[in-house]
Amino acid sequence: MKLDTTGLKSFIDNEKIERLLEEAKNADTQEVRKVLDKALLKKGLNFKDVAILIQNNNQDLIEDMYKTCHRIKQEIYGNRIVLFAPLYVGNECINDCVYCGFRISNTECHRKTLTHEELINETKALENAGHKRLIMVYGEHSKYDADYIAETVKTVYGVKEKNGEIRRANINAAPLDVEGYKIVKAAGIGTYQIFQDTYHQETYEKLHPRGPKSNFLWRLFGLDRAMEGGIDDLGIGALMGLYDWKFEVMGLMMHARHLEETFGVGPHTISFPRIEEACGSEFTKHPINEVSDDDFKKLVAILRLAVPYTGLILTAREDVELRNEVLDLGVSQIDGGSSIGIGEYSQHDEDEYKKSQFILGDHRSLDEVICELAKHGYIPSFCTACYRLGRTGEHFMELSKPGHIKTFCQPNALITFSEYLLDYGSEESKKAGADLIAREILNFPESEIKTELLKKIAELNAGVRDLYF
Ligand code: SF4
Ligand code: SF4
Repeated sequence: MKLDTTGLKSFIDNEKIERLLEEAKNADTQEVRKVLDKALLKKGLNFKDVAILIQNNNQDLIEDMYKTCHRIKQEIYGNRIVLFAPLYVGNECINDCVYCGFRISNTECHRKTLTHEELINETKALENAGHKRLIMVYGEHSKYDADYIAETVKTVYGVKEKNGEIRRANINAAPLDVEGYKIVKAAGIGTYQIFQDTYHQETYEKLHPRGPKSNFLWRLFGLDRAMEGGIDDLGIGALMGLYDWKFEVMGLMMHARHLEETFGVGPHTISFPRIEEACGSEFTKHPINEVSDDDFKKLVAILRLAVPYTGLILTAREDVELRNEVLDLGVSQIDGGSSIGIGEYSQHDEDEYKKSQFILGDHRSLDEVICELAKHGYIPSFCTACYRLGRTGEHFMELSKPGHIKTFCQPNALITFSEYLLDYGSEESKKAGADLIAREILNFPESEIKTELLKKIAELNAGVRDLYF
């Protein structure tokens, strides 16, 4: 594949970012409060507003920002949390990202690509745990071309173990060309996720010294090509700790704005993983721009206010305590029961570390995560309704912006959670879940949807599966 970047110009305006961040240092209390009031309108924030929140170090105002986030999260997302799991398909890679255990120069890495049989076994193991939504992860290698990705997605969708099935397979893989995206779209993928990792081009070029990923522009416009190939469900992300997090948050905003202005649809999700130690990577042991827990919470909150309708993904890189804290700030999706060693769901290996991209901070099983969520009043959701009913991209944005999506999301969360409890819940999670569902139904406004919801839950109890609005 030829990486043609002719005529492309970066939409990341370094000068503007630096200027706005500098000017925002002078913002007074009133200006910060004005931005928080504006955020309550749920129409998003502009670059200047975001810079003001980034530079605010007044603890009282930071607490107010968290309260605003909590309110917005409740109004838009209620108490639902969508759950997914990563499925690593292969860790062969021709790039040399200095922070990654899979990079080509890492001789300690155990290279592995799942065979067809192993992929089926991994999917069965995930289905037996109760998963319905996956993010399939691939290194960058000629083996993992668009046809291969499409093939493996079809394999995963084809695995039906007892009542289990994967209903949405999202992809995290190298940027493709337009033709490639058409091929993977035809396989029925959900979101196509590409992290820029750092939006600071100079740093990017230092940390990605060889391989196709060293081409900043090819990656930066990777999701534009996805749009051109017909994929309108996109995920962006930055790896926090490679460069100053303040710059990265502004970079994410510029990327989101670019997609919205160019295609009329912003990203469906934003990810903001923090760098974690990786096998054979000295760089990850002492990241130059390490992000503290406090700054991490702050950046999650700022993203929530800046793009209220975009899904925010928090992964098991973070430990349980921090995960629980930021849930309240507006995270909408988390993974549970994750294993990131290739083939680790079905076959445990003492050397998992050497088959993994980095080290996880949360090792709880899916059921433990679910049980804890339910006890804290969150409804774990495995909903995939929008994607299956074609409510994606522009159509999704039309529905979600006025808040209509809540009409579907809440009942779908209750349905998919009930389904999980019936098929996979432990006694403890069944108990916590039953109490939560009973409370939610009691508080559900009397309406046709409520009648239909109760009917669907009765059908689930009678053995019917895969119900949604
Ligand atoms: Fe390869 Fe991705 Fe790791 Fe870079 S971050 S070495 S592209 S797997
Ligand atoms: Fe997501 Fe749509 Fe389900 Fe809501 S109804 S949780 S937006 S898939």
